[in-house]
Amino acid sequence: MTNPQTRARAAYQKYFGIEPAMLLRAPGRVNLIGEHTDYNDGFVLPCAIDRETIVAVGPASNGAITAIACDFGEHRDSFSLSEPIGHAAAEWANYLRGMAKVMLDDGIPLVSAHMAIAGDVPLGSGLSSSASLEVAAGYALARIARQIVGPAHMAKLAQRAENDFVGCACGIMDQLIATSGQAGHALLIDCRTLDCTPVSIPNDVSILIAHSGVRHAHAGGEYNDRRRQCEAAARHYGVAALRDLTVQQLELGKAGLDDVSYRRARHVVTENARTEAAASALKSADLARLGELMVQSHASMRDDFEITVPAIDHLAEIMTAPLAGDGGARMTGGGFGGCVVAVAANANVPAVVNAIADHYRTPEGLPADVFVCRASAGASKI
Ligand code: ADP
Ligand code: MG
Repeated sequence: MTNPQTRARAAYQKYFGIEPAMLLRAPGRVNLIGEHTDYNDGFVLPCAIDRETIVAVGPASNGAITAIACDFGEHRDSFSLSEPIGHAAAEWANYLRGMAKVMLDDGIPLVSAHMAIAGDVPLGSGLSSSASLEVAAGYALARIARQIVGPAHMAKLAQRAENDFVGCACGIMDQLIATSGQAGHALLIDCRTLDCTPVSIPNDVSILIAHSGVRHAHAGGEYNDRRRQCEAAARHYGVAALRDLTVQQLELGKAGLDDVSYRRARHVVTENARTEAAASALKSADLARLGELMVQSHASMRDDFEITVPAIDHLAEIMTAPLAGDGGARMTGGGFGGCVVAVAANANVPAVVNAIADHYRTPEGLPADVFVCRASAGASKI
């Protein structure tokens, strides 16, 4: 497959007859640790990856936004900016429509535009193709209308589009790392204050991503369920969010809370602590400690939060074993399939790759897709 920039540019020329005025990019991300903590006002540690969504954009004069989705058979969507923006039948188009709607609702004046969209973030795999699309589309809409929108503001708009228009109750992590990622760094994000602390990824450390071949369902019901369970647990403890609870308070106040809700809360509370500890471990290149925390995180997602599937558990074990404690692996992303991320010394990468090739097959019986990613910068104009 040719790269997304080339495909977006070519589709733009094919459908709109001229060169696009500009290309905007926004990256996918891999979350090293801190899963389902963002909507509990907690901590996450993602980095933007060198897979991205490109939106080629140029002016139009028909009062509408018209877009071509290269990754969906060059399917076309068009909607008027002067009428209320409703939902499209095609799922992909709702991310774009959602962005246009929340930006207009926020008082950002938009103008008519043509767009062509292409990406190489695997879809529905826990690497957040959805946020990369939202953010790239948001900046395309803003730029063509000569509007300046800051990274935290754009991230909040994109989250609102996904929550209110697409219907997935995601937190802010994916959108914020897509706007604010830094090359060579992970970001420790405090999802309450949106403070981002860059954590340098040492040169001799690799981030390896393996795709289980199990795709999670979009805008998932299970995801929204977990969020509701967390909110109910926070109400039980009388706190604004599970972020506000220590492990000790979790134990002391558990009387009257059902076992499932208690375990959901325990995942979030312990995961927040692990995430802060993991940022320190990464900073000091302590791969043994980081690996231990990642393995604990995976177990917590499997046993307490119940968002893994057997294929993912198996893949995480296969990737962790060859590291012999020097690094580790865990499922990354919302869950129910998708990818496993490993953090390992560069020298150990071949052993992990070989272990996956020898011991893992996707549900279709194929070898897993594996790649080493480069921590990349957030959204930009090309
Ligand atoms: P994830 O964010 O983990 O990749 P989601 O289910 O949240 O999974 O989002 C995937 C959906 O986002 C796709 O099914 C599609 O509708 C939309 N999307 C992502 N990337 C693109 C793209 N390049 N072109 C069109 N739609 C895309
Ligand atoms: Mg998503």
